[in-house]
Amino acid sequence: MKRKKFIEVSGKSLLGLTVLSQIPVKSMAIISEKNIKSDGGTMIEVKTKRLFLEDTWTISRNSSDYKDNVFVRIEKDGVAGYGEAAPNVRYGENHNKTTDRINGVKSLFEKYDLWHYVDLKDEIFASITDQNCARCALDIAIMDWIGKKLNAPLYKIWGLDKSKTPLTSYSIGIDTIEVIKKKVRAAEKYPLLKIKVGKDNDEEIIEAVRSITDKPIRVDANEGWKSKEVALEKIKWLQSMGIEFIEQPMPSDMIEETRWLRDRVDIPIIADEAVKTVADIPKLAEAYDGINIKLMKAGGPQEAMRMIYLARAMNMKIMLGCMIESAISISAAAHLSPLVDWADLDGNLLLREDPYQGVGVEKGKLILNDKPGLGITGEF
Ligand code: MG
Repeated sequence: MKRKKFIEVSGKSLLGLTVLSQIPVKSMAIISEKNIKSDGGTMIEVKTKRLFLEDTWTISRNSSDYKDNVFVRIEKDGVAGYGEAAPNVRYGENHNKTTDRINGVKSLFEKYDLWHYVDLKDEIFASITDQNCARCALDIAIMDWIGKKLNAPLYKIWGLDKSKTPLTSYSIGIDTIEVIKKKVRAAEKYPLLKIKVGKDNDEEIIEAVRSITDKPIRVDANEGWKSKEVALEKIKWLQSMGIEFIEQPMPSDMIEETRWLRDRVDIPIIADEAVKTVADIPKLAEAYDGINIKLMKAGGPQEAMRMIYLARAMNMKIMLGCMIESAISISAAAHLSPLVDWADLDGNLLLREDPYQGVGVEKGKLILNDKPGLGITGEF
């Protein structure tokens, strides 16, 4: 039997027991729930699934073999919308809190019509203030439902041209030099690479990658350089290696130091950890050339759209990124991607097995299908 690479942490079927036995499973606190609502019956189900990575994923601050993502299914009038949350420890998120927050706003679905999704989103944001990924899961599910009800893919509802989707970069995490080389070779079909650095052997990593490929490379330090002098020296060196841009060189609160840095380097500096929602953008405009928008940080596609328009108005470059996610949220982001300069929507490509199918990738280009809503298939 083919080994299932993901399991439902809280579900009845614990597939992939060989994997499970190697990894301690935390409490089975999250249970799939069904909740029939009175206003015509909105049913909301929440489920946590453990998604295993193909390889151990290491960035400057942590390392993981799997992610426990929270999935939401909203059903009304015979149509179901799907959403996903990818809780991130960097932002104080976890799957238990995320599930609690989603369960905590179910009453809003009695009060608001799903068609009034703008008002509903505002209410969800007012109610959930500490788990943006929970906001995101609900917003994605609502937008999927809207698309399915209108029988149109989201990119069409948003007036976007799917031929304008960008290429996505493919990310290489921090690892031994031999493994990094192996991963770069295995990523041959992807025309753009994003390389994680921020430990003490950055130069060795970049030299190893450059010894194999002359593809465009983007570099993400994940706040790994702790002083502006170190960051300056690193970026000057990266420029000599033909790097396209640098993402989050220093800790997110070092805005003044980043502004200092920006005056002294030639490649764009992109904010990631420093920017979550639209409210963060104005204070960053002097320090960064662009922002990395992620649905999980933003709280869903509606907020991401607002961020895109504000960043454009402030003449900032826009990157659309992701966490480790399934095709549900990667597809949601991909529907917005015709609006952005750069995409880094590879979270599902790093999974051993994605429970869902949605946006495709051909020679690095994001390929949206014409199914309604997110255009995803797969069992909840
Ligand atoms: Mg980043």
